[in-house]
This record gives sequence, structure tokens and C-alpha cells, in this order.
Amino acid sequence: KKLGIALVGLGKYSKEQLAPALQETKDCYLAGIVTGTPSKVKEWQDEYSIPDKNVYNYETFDQLKDNPAIDVVYIVLPNSMHAEYSIRAAKAGKHVICEKPMAITAADCQRMIEACKENNVTLSIGYRLYFEPYNKRVMELGQQEVFGKVKSMKADNSQDMTKESPDVWRLDKKLSGGGPLMDVGIYCVQGICYTMGKNPVAVTAQFGKVTNPAYFKNVEESISWQLEFPGGVMANCTSSYSTEANLLSGEAENGWWRVSPAYAYDGKDGETSEGKMDYPQVFEQALQMDGICQSIKQNKPSIVPGEMGLRDVKIMEAIYEAARTGKKIPLQLS
Ligand code: NAD
Repeated sequence: KKLGIALVGLGKYSKEQLAPALQETKDCYLAGIVTGTPSKVKEWQDEYSIPDKNVYNYETFDQLKDNPAIDVVYIVLPNSMHAEYSIRAAKAGKHVICEKPMAITAADCQRMIEACKENNVTLSIGYRLYFEPYNKRVMELGQQEVFGKVKSMKADNSQDMTKESPDVWRLDKKLSGGGPLMDVGIYCVQGICYTMGKNPVAVTAQFGKVTNPAYFKNVEESISWQLEFPGGVMANCTSSYSTEANLLSGEAENGWWRVSPAYAYDGKDGETSEGKMDYPQVFEQALQMDGICQSIKQNKPSIVPGEMGLRDVKIMEAIYEAARTGKKIPLQLS
């Protein structure tokens, strides 16, 4: 049986990526929607044949518990709302997929993990790159030491937000939890951790200059950070909201790799010291949702679990602390 997914929050990512992906999935389908915007309902119902009984708003959300057609609730709201709606979904007895960043504090992530455990449902984070061939190859190159031990890594994920209105929720710390680090820099944190297959032991960080104060009133415009791994292996990372970059690279004893773009939805490309990387372009959100739903059906642990989302939020909290204090912050991650 295909599991029924309900998308919560019908913004850009739901509309342009997840709903189209759910037309190609084999283990799940778009069964329902939750939206606070009544004008979106008919458009989505017509396009995806969603019956009235599977349409909810934020007031009726908790009634999901009485709807056996919905197996999984996928939270695609502004970051500060992830915790509340993931916990309410768990209490309704539904498996949860939550977008990145899992929440805006580690304490919220803990509460989400506990709620899912208490209600016997699974919790996965929308980490699509775990299902994407170029990034999976980087995991192999680093973790299996294909070119020997990793010596250093670089990651940069930057997206120019000054093309948007200064009023977007991503620039409002209450809703976003932070600037480019929370939104796109998180992919660098992920990329470095899955290159190593280990967690960093310490971090240093620096905020960049604010060049556009009309946009960056309460979130950083750019940030650089350095993740240290056991044995002194270092990763240099950057994320900015006023430039464009998209890179994950590594150098090992006997070779190197450079994937760019590494995090964009389309057009992944890269090379290694042995030549061009040549992998198929996939619809990674479809593979991601199928992968998560297969693990649910087979009663296996998710490969992108809440614990991984919590780890990344802890690392990002330490990066902000390091940037604020100028100190090296040790990390104790299990
Ligand atoms: P968006 O602004 O396009 O959509 C947000 C949705 O939330 C809208 O439908 C909006 O109506 C709704 N909403 C409810 N309450 C709101 C409030 N108080 N303020 C603003 N909007 C409110 O954003 P998006 O790009 O779709 O991002 C949604 C989530 O998905 C974010 O957590 C983001 O990090 C994540 N995301 C992930 C990826 C990925 O590749 N995994 C890509 C894009 C976005």
C-alpha cells in the first residue's frame, strides 16, 4: 500500500518540489493538505484530486487523528513552527517528516523526538541529499577513504536573498531562527558531517560584515565557520545571503573531489582527481519520500532521523555562540 502524505504549509517548496515529486513516488502519494489560506484549497484539490475529507486548516489540524487515509504528516512551514506542528502531528498518531532546520533550538528538537517516541511514530528530517547520487558518492569517498584519509574539506552554500522582499520570513529571526546558516549553511554542516561519517569536536566562527542593513536587521548577512574533527582534520565553511555559491569539496591523502553545484535541486556536477563525476540527475525529493516511507513500512530506522536534525541544530547553536564570543566552542555530540 502507498502511504498517504499530508503536506502542511503550501508555500514554494511544497508547491514546486514536494507535490510534483509525490506524483512520481511509489511508496507514498499526496493524500491531504493543511493550509491557512482558503484560496489555495480548490487549486490544490483540482490539481491533485484531494477529497474534501483530507483538507485541513490549522484549527482543524488535530482532527487528523481520526483520518486513516493520512499516514504521514510533512511539515513545510517557517522554521519556528516546525516544533509545534511536528508535536501535534505525533499526538495525532501520524509519522512525521519535518523540513530543515528541524527547529530553531535544540530544546525544541528534543521535545519533538520525545513526542514521536511517546506516540510510537517515526520522525525524519527532509534531508534530500542523502538520496542523491553525487552526494552519496561524496559519502563513499570520505567515509570509505577511497583516496586515503580526508585531510581537509570546504563547503559554501550562499543564496542572494536581497533579490527578494526584505519582509520575507527568512529575514525575521523569530520565524527563521537565524540567517543563511539556518537556511542554507545547514547543508554545509550536513555535507561535512556526511563526508566524514563522524561528528565534529569543536567549532570556531566569524560573522561577516553587514553591507545591506535594510535586509539584515536581526539575522546575519553572512557567516564563516570552521569545524574540527578528531586528529585535527578541518572543514572551512561559509554561507551568505548576499552572494551565490554552491560547493562541497574535500582533499584526501591521494586525491580530491569538488562537487558544484552540490545542494541545488538540479544540475549537480563535479569532478575528482580521477576525472569528471557522471551520475544521473534524479528527482531527489521523490527518492527521499520513498526512502523514508519504505523505512516506515519495513519498520526500519530512518536514515535521516530526528536525532540527526538535533545534532545539526546543536552544531549551528555552537557556531552562533562561537561567532558571538570569538571563542572555540567544544562539541560533545554522541
Ligand atoms: P514559503 O515562504 O514559500 O512557504 C511557507 C508557507 O508557510 C506558506 O504557505 C505560508 O502561507 C505558510 N505560513 C504559515 N504561517 C506563516 C507565517 N507566520 N509566516 C510566513 N508563512 C507562514 O517557504 P518555503 O520555501 O516553502 O519553506 C518552508 C520550509 O521548507 C522551511 O522550513 C524551509 O527551510 C524548508 N525548505 C526546504 C527545502 C529543501 O530543499 N529541503 C527547500 C526550500 C524550503
